[in-house]
Amino acid sequence: MNAKRYLSRVASLGCVVCRLVGRHNSPAEIHHIREGQGMAQRASDFLVIPICPEHHRGGTGIHGMGVKAFERAWRLTELDLLAETIRLLEDSQP
Ligand SMILES: [Zn+2]
Ligand SMILES: [Zn+2]
Repeated sequence: MNAKRYLSRVASLGCVVCRLVGRHNSPAEIHHIREGQGMAQRASDFLVIPICPEHHRGGTGIHGMGVKAFERAWRLTELDLLAETIRLLEDSQP
């Protein structure tokens, strides 16, 4: 699957953080995990999670709070959310 198709499938899952609090299908944008670390190498478009604008860039978001504080607040790592994304993709397989 090419990256563009993959990204649109991931986005269509809705926010994975909202899901954890029972809110499904929140419109999501793409977050590249470990974004901003090692700016030299571009993050892979296959290491991405769907998160809504609030949980991405807002006050309770991964960039808003910073990755470390976000992971502490939610007791979840980016890799946990990546695993959940992959599980949801597998479940959504036609
Ligand atoms: Zn959300
Ligand atoms: Zn991001």
